[in-house]
Amino acid sequence: MEDRQILTDALKFHGHRCWASVAGLRVGLAALRALEVSRSGGAQLYAILETGEEHGGMCFGDGIQFTTGCTLGKGNIRKNPLGKLAVTLIDKDGERAVRVSYKPTLQKQIAGSAFMQQRAAGVPPDEISEAEQQEVVDLVWDAPEGDILTVGEVFPYEHNWLPEVMGFTPCQACGELVAQAYLRVVGERKLCIPCSGYNR
Ligand SMILES: [Zn+2]
Ligand SMILES: [Zn+2]
Repeated sequence: MEDRQILTDALKFHGHRCWASVAGLRVGLAALRALEVSRSGGAQLYAILETGEEHGGMCFGDGIQFTTGCTLGKGNIRKNPLGKLAVTLIDKDGERAVRVSYKPTLQKQIAGSAFMQQRAAGVPPDEISEAEQQEVVDLVWDAPEGDILTVGEVFPYEHNWLPEVMGFTPCQACGELVAQAYLRVVGERKLCIPCSGYNR
C-alpha cells in the first residue's frame, strides 16, 4: 500500500476529495514504478495525458501532476484529448515509456455512492460532507492495483526533444518580460506578440 501521506498532500493540493484525482494518483504511482523512476523534480519525465476538456473526471490530471512531477508549470505535460483516464509517462533519458489506464471496475460503486448521488443532483464537491467524500476516495485508494489499473509493457520511446531557450528580454513597447522565442521583430524593435500586432 502506498504512503497515505501522498494521498493527504495531493488532496490538499487538489482542493477537494474526489475519485478521479485519486485514480490519477494510483495511475501516476504505477507508471513511476513500471519505469523504475522517481517523481520528476526537473524535466526528466514527460507525460501525455488523455483527458480532454469540459468533462467529469478531469481531476484525474491533478493526480498525475502530483505524483509524476510532470506539471503545467514545468511544461513537461500535455494533453492528447481523448476523454480517457490514461497517461503515457516517458522517461526521456532512458528513452522508454509506459501507458497506464484506469479500469471501469469501480464505476458502479462510485456512481451509487452518497458523494456521486449529490454531485449528480448538482451539489458542488466541497459542500458534500467529509465522511461522504472520504468514502469514495478510500474506495479508489484501497483497491487492489490489478482491479483498477492496466499497466502496459514498457516500450522504447525516442523523441527529438527541443531544448529550452533561456533568457527574457523586456518588450520595447510595453516593457514586460518576454521569453526570447516569443519576441517579434517589427522594424528596429523587438516586441511582445500583442504589441507587435502579429497573431502569433
Ligand atoms: Zn476533483
Ligand atoms: Zn509588449
